[in-house]
Parts: sequence; C-alpha cells; structure tokens
Amino acid sequence: MQTYSRRWFVASSCGVSLATLMPRALAQSKITPGADSALIVVDVQNCFTPGGSLAVNKGDEIIPLINRLAKAFQNVVLTQDWHTPGHVSFASSHAGKKPFESVVLPYGNQILWPDHCVQGTDGAAIHKDIDIPHAQLIIRKGFNRNVDSYSAFVEADGKSKTGLDGYFKERGISTVYVVGLATDFCVAWTAMDARKLGLAAVVIEDACRGIDTQGSLAAAWKSMAEAGVKRIQSSEIALPG
Ligand SMILES: [Zn+2]
Repeated sequence: MQTYSRRWFVASSCGVSLATLMPRALAQSKITPGADSALIVVDVQNCFTPGGSLAVNKGDEIIPLINRLAKAFQNVVLTQDWHTPGHVSFASSHAGKKPFESVVLPYGNQILWPDHCVQGTDGAAIHKDIDIPHAQLIIRKGFNRNVDSYSAFVEADGKSKTGLDGYFKERGISTVYVVGLATDFCVAWTAMDARKLGLAAVVIEDACRGIDTQGSLAAAWKSMAEAGVKRIQSSEIALPG
C-alpha cells in the first residue's frame, strides 16, 4: 500500500494517468464482440496490395493484424471488388482520361482508376496471406459494368443493394466492425452505408490503409464521424488467447 501510494503520488505529479498503473483494469474494459457483431474485411485483394495495379501503400501490412482480429469474431464477412473487363470505373474505358481523373456518370461523380480486380483474374483474388477459415460469406461488388460499388451494401447508384443488410438482419447482427482497404473509399463507404441501414458501425483504424488522393483520407474520416461511425484502434478489442 505504501508503495502504491508513493507510485500514485509520483505518477500524479508527473502527469501520468492512473490507467497506466492499472493494466488489468484496462484489459477488462476491452470490447469482446458477441454473436450480434460481425467483422467485415474489405477488399484485401492482390490488386490493392503492393505489386497490384491499384496498390494501397503498405496495404499488406495489415494482413497479420486482420487475421488476429478475425479470431475475436464469430461472424466474419469478406468483400471482393469484382469488375467486368471494360468497367465504367476504369480510366481505360473513357477516351482521353487518366487514372485519378473524374467523370460525371448518370449516378454522379466517378473517380477513374487503373484497371483492377477483373472477375476471375489473379489480381481479383483475395490475398493469399488472409487466413480466416471461419469467414462465412464473401460479398462480391462492382460486378455491374456500368455501376461502381465502393460499399459492401449499396452500389454507387445509391439504390442497388448487394443483399448484405438482409443477411445481417436475418442473422441478428446489429454491429459491424470494418477493416481492410482502402480506408477512404471502400471501408468508409461500407461503414457509412451500415449506419444508413440502421447498424452500429466501427472502423478499426490501424487495421486499414488509405489511398489518400486529393485529401480523400481526411474527408472520409470527417464524413464517417458525421455519420456516427466510431473510430477505434485494434488494441481496444479483446483478442482471444
Ligand atoms: Zn473497384
């Protein structure tokens, strides 16, 4: 007791919080996802990882962390960007346009990308180091030639659903945790659509990586906060074993 009081006094006077002296108490406050929660692992595919045609910087770094996090969830869904050849989101489909320029399509503004994640190609495959054998569902998105889909729930036209919200409803899942690639596009749109569909949505920041073109990363975090998406770190999740 004597020692503790002295440590507490020293810590207080140095501006160190009591929490740093109480790791056990902190551990107890970690999140343990239950049967009503699901982890959505967004687009960890060859095209989006180093060596791929639309590689997210250090996109492969998050794979071991995602594998560990997935063990804390009974319910895991993977998403897979899955485009036709000549897809409307490809710069190569628009004469005179380069990747990262934009065009206006019937459903709104569309950023143009290098060709990526063409159905059935090696680039569209889930990265080989993703090790989540208990994942229950793979949602493929962006398979309509004329409509992109960053979100795992609703395509970029704002109305065509993938069916994922119905799946969650049928399974009694009310909270989704989102990780993967890229923070400022498919992760953000998935989390924000989850909110629109009445789900609680949490993005685990350090298990995501962003593209960050023209300020898109900061803009995405702002939009997510406004939509009621929670932003946490993986250390806030209780990992088994
Ligand atoms: Zn895509």
